[in-house]
Amino acid sequence: MPNIKPEDIPADNARIPGPTRRIFLQRSAVGLAAAVATGSAWAEAPASATENAVKLPLIQDPKTEQAEETPDPNSSPDDRVGYAIVGLGRLSMDQILPALSACKYSRVAALVSGDRDKARKVARQYGLRETDVFDYQNFERLADNPRVHVVYIVLPNGMHKEYTVRAAQIGKHVLCEKPMATSAADCQAMISACRQANRKLMIAYRSQYEPMDRMIVKMVQQGKLGPLREFIAGNSQNVGDPSQWRLKKALAGGGALPDIGLYALNAARFLSGEEPFEATATTTRPDDDPRFKEVEESVHFVLRFPSGFTATCMASYGSHESRFFRLQGPQGWAEMDPAFGYNGLRLRYGALVDGKNAVTEITIDPNNQFAREIDHMSQCVISNAIPHTPGEEGLQDQRIMEAIYESAHTGAAVKIARPTGVWRGPEPSEETF
Ligand code: NAD
Repeated sequence: MPNIKPEDIPADNARIPGPTRRIFLQRSAVGLAAAVATGSAWAEAPASATENAVKLPLIQDPKTEQAEETPDPNSSPDDRVGYAIVGLGRLSMDQILPALSACKYSRVAALVSGDRDKARKVARQYGLRETDVFDYQNFERLADNPRVHVVYIVLPNGMHKEYTVRAAQIGKHVLCEKPMATSAADCQAMISACRQANRKLMIAYRSQYEPMDRMIVKMVQQGKLGPLREFIAGNSQNVGDPSQWRLKKALAGGGALPDIGLYALNAARFLSGEEPFEATATTTRPDDDPRFKEVEESVHFVLRFPSGFTATCMASYGSHESRFFRLQGPQGWAEMDPAFGYNGLRLRYGALVDGKNAVTEITIDPNNQFAREIDHMSQCVISNAIPHTPGEEGLQDQRIMEAIYESAHTGAAVKIARPTGVWRGPEPSEETF
């Protein structure tokens, strides 16, 4: 097996190697950058996923049939990027931990929870040791666990900044749930802390790794819809328990907007590839509803983009579950309904076919968007690349949400500064799961 040298590591923002490129992970918690800095010996490179590939003979004619898809090879468990999951709530228990079992380059390595009994049960379920369970007070002891490379923060929004900064300070990379934080100042502090520690920071915008959304991005880039004109979207769910953190301003940052309206806002940006320069908005907060004492029930906002493209979006905590968007241009439209969900997504495409206004439903294997998202982070750690959805992506959404709230408050349109430079890292690889 050839030795990997420092010069073989692609520079930041390089394309993430696909399954055909050699990958390796240094088995040290300190990570690649520190090894380069200290000139320490390279850990022996493990067999790459590619070397584990198994090829099966085809039965069907590949000229007319979709190629049979044997899943792309994965890394052996010891060679994977290890994650400490911080917060064992609904998202961690129901989506992230099961998705880690489906990953190719990632594995769960530790749990951080305020409830030791629960964490011990979960640890047993996922094959972890008792010593892999931490709490919020002894969080810094994760530094001594070389199996943990990335800290995945799945706490209430108002706690994201503290745990991102603490993770960076002990030398860990950070994957942080959306919304990134509850203020642009906190987002900026998270970016600075990770930059200072030379650690990666990715915001978990799972829709940007979801295959149907990615198909629409490509349709737009290929001009299938023509120059984009409108994006229309809604994201609603009727919330219950008035005491939950999602309805507390300090922990949530706001109501429907940062929790679910953010999906529509971020989709308008990543599907179009454009950045809005102005927001107008209104919010509602019924006085007599005990759920909405601190945060808005619903938000309506319009974003204007330099090309003339507009996004008209709403989100509500008071309407039955409803999630959809439609993206329109002169040559066609693409629609997802439901959109933004974990599964059951549907994509339809409308365009002129043989002189007729035709609507096509595009059905593809859904695949696990959480596993794709987490593996993207792992590949960025392995290959030293900037994540496709780095901290700057979350910061810009936060700035836009602050403009939306300001417009709702003042009744005037609010200008939004364009982010400078290129901030998104390479497109995620499209492996077969
Ligand atoms: P949850 O309430 O189910 O879990 C939150 C966890 O944080 C719990 O384990 C809780 O014990 C812990 N916690 C620690 N300190 C707390 C405190 N002071 N108050 C309340 N809880 C505290 O929430 P969730 O639905 O798992 O959401 C967690 C994060 O994930 C949020 O940032 C949310 O926006 C995000 N999220 C993302 C998606 C997605 O699809 N990407 C979906 C749901 C939630």
